[in-house]
Amino acid sequence: MGELSTSIQYLSGVGPKRAELLRRELGIETLSDLIHLYPFRYIDRSGITRIAEVAPDLAYVQLQARVVSRTLYGPGSSIVSQETDPIHFNASKRLSVIVEDDSGRMEMVFFKGIKWNYQRLVPGATFLFFGKPQAFGNRLNIVHPEVDVPQSGTLSQGTLTGVYPSTEKLKTGGITGKVMCKLQAAALNLCLPEIQETLPEYILRDRGLVSLQYALKNIHFPGDSYTLQKATYRLKFEELFFLQLSLLKQKYVRSRGERGILMPKVGPDFHACYNALPYALTGAQQRVIKEIRADLVSGHQMNRLLQGDVGSGKTMVAVLSCLIAIGNGFQTCIMAPTEVLAQQHYANIQKYLKPTSVRCALLTGSTTQKERRDIHAGLVDGSIGIIVGTHALLEDNVVFRNLGLAVIDEQHRFGVDQRARLWAKGPETGRVLPPETVAARGLVNGGTASAVQRRDERSEVSGSSDSSGRDRIPPHVLVMTATPIPRTLAMTLYGDLDVSVIDEMPPGRKPVQTMCIGQNRRNAMYRFMRDEIARGRQVFVVFPLIFESEKMDLQNLEQGYEEIVKAFPLPDYKVAIVHGQQTNEEKSFNMSAFAAGRAHILVSTTVIEVGVDVPNASVMVIESAQRFGLSQLHQLRGRVGRGAEKSYCILVKDAKTSKEAQQRLDLMCSTEDGFEIAEQDMKMRGPGDLEGTQQSGLPISLNIASLARDGQLLTEARIYAERILEADPSLEAPQNQALVRELRKEKYEIKDYSKIS
Ligand code: ADP
Ligand code: MG
Repeated sequence: MGELSTSIQYLSGVGPKRAELLRRELGIETLSDLIHLYPFRYIDRSGITRIAEVAPDLAYVQLQARVVSRTLYGPGSSIVSQETDPIHFNASKRLSVIVEDDSGRMEMVFFKGIKWNYQRLVPGATFLFFGKPQAFGNRLNIVHPEVDVPQSGTLSQGTLTGVYPSTEKLKTGGITGKVMCKLQAAALNLCLPEIQETLPEYILRDRGLVSLQYALKNIHFPGDSYTLQKATYRLKFEELFFLQLSLLKQKYVRSRGERGILMPKVGPDFHACYNALPYALTGAQQRVIKEIRADLVSGHQMNRLLQGDVGSGKTMVAVLSCLIAIGNGFQTCIMAPTEVLAQQHYANIQKYLKPTSVRCALLTGSTTQKERRDIHAGLVDGSIGIIVGTHALLEDNVVFRNLGLAVIDEQHRFGVDQRARLWAKGPETGRVLPPETVAARGLVNGGTASAVQRRDERSEVSGSSDSSGRDRIPPHVLVMTATPIPRTLAMTLYGDLDVSVIDEMPPGRKPVQTMCIGQNRRNAMYRFMRDEIARGRQVFVVFPLIFESEKMDLQNLEQGYEEIVKAFPLPDYKVAIVHGQQTNEEKSFNMSAFAAGRAHILVSTTVIEVGVDVPNASVMVIESAQRFGLSQLHQLRGRVGRGAEKSYCILVKDAKTSKEAQQRLDLMCSTEDGFEIAEQDMKMRGPGDLEGTQQSGLPISLNIASLARDGQLLTEARIYAERILEADPSLEAPQNQALVRELRKEKYEIKDYSKIS
């Protein structure tokens, strides 16, 4: 017994050195960890493409080919070493390897791992190359192919051999693909008898799922593609099921148990602001405010995600929500991911607050010490009703008298830990709303004891404690995001949140006309920009981050800037530039020059991606648009079309634009619907990338299921999880104990997530 938890070191063929390598490179410590490392792909030995049949835009191909020659290139494609020359790895930027089979020749390219690949890819030797072919000029190549040694006589009886995640260090340390297969076989032999079924019998029957033992064996060593499919389906279902069970359980527990600050009133400031609005709220805005109101009087903590496309009017909803909290005698905060955004929010919110008596302040990294002291005092004495800021709000010395509502804008930029810190700033139990504050502001007429509904039962979600250990009541939390998240992804990431959607744009919004052009029409584009500027409009020009080093990206941007300045010279035109290497002051200075209309054109990297509002800007030019992801393009496009004027988005593509990139650009030209774009984006790229771009905020990691491809399965698994929890919300029934055991595993732990986001 206990093989599963045995250290990997004791598996035959491992030992202390390789154990350390496995731990460092793959996080594998026990046999259980090992057998849960699944192949990410299978080599079908019948599936080898001949080089003559390789075409660009073919999906991934596997070639079996012999190395012909190797060439090392330095910067600017200068040849550093060829086969017979002395080798200079340090001066090399690129390794080109020509390979051949009996049908033709082709190039493999490496920018990384140059030395290692050079040394193993010796002329005459045969390898399996796996990767995505692409056209480069009139040649075809594969950049960074996976390279395997063709295996004779594998462990699998079938035709499919698993390929495991690996690293250069693992391979040089002797843990090749072949060795990994051997280790898996040995570990499975020891562990399989110990594996217990995790899913209830009736679900297995209902869904026609294979047993866990069978699935584990076949995910590693499938007999054929049918058994592999059965195994994969079962493991994916299990993963998605437990994930949903975990998320939903937290939601059930919270909605039953978590104390929430009661906010029964609306208050005069809300009405003052509302009545002075220059426009009517959209139906969607009204509905969302009602949903939020209902949360605030429920006695439970609100954890609501507000999704709304760029420009749908989320800020207004946030401000009105804050005013309700203030109307009940509480303070509020609005956190933005960047300084520029915080400033912009602050400026907008102050406008909305004019008709009210609410004091609003801005706290960011560049707030001076003196201002800071004033703000800290105003937060402690309760005189500041809304504090707008960046991460600076999370610092320990920011103490509220009674924080009742936290609004987090563009949540995916906030890490989980940061959310938890905000959580701990809620009011202390028993110290909420001292009567004198309330009376002085004339906001509450009843007793204040009811302001917090006490928990009448012990719940698993406990209140948070601050550093001094005092019990804290969590503020209500409203998370706003303009990134339209596909339904399946939202269901997973926010399975425990309530979701409101603003699915209606304010009236009078004109569609943004989007077009995609090649470099040959650059001059025509400049003419068009001049026309728009002559009409008093402004233009954004955005450059992508292309290179791995910030320095080179900056060069790229500066070249672009110079070109724009040449085409738009002083004194007629003023061009501002904003990028990530500037100090906060420089950024703000340049941004505000553009926002105030002192510059006609703003050249920037994607720092302007989120939230920035310059209604007078009517043209968004995106350079090298093929390099951007869809959701990023959509965010950028959302920067225009905010004013009364017709707006344009011009996607400038380079000559080397792949078919996939062209598809993205075509989609951008055909729709402005953020949700449709998000769905398509996930389908085209796979959520791996989507997750990759949001690393900081992701509370989960999936081992085998894919959010893009397995949306249907996710929905099905969720239904089972819901049914089980409806009957037994805290999973106490004897028949559910196996589920509880499984849920305790680390992989289903969602760190503090339900608490704050
Ligand atoms: P978001 O944050 O969702 O991208 P904003 O809150 O910045 O959008 O709103 C975009 C613009 O629309 C702002 O200039 C705002 O004043 C305006 N706006 C918001 N709600 C309405 C409405 N109901 N009618 C007209 N304009 C509105
Ligand atoms: Mg906004």
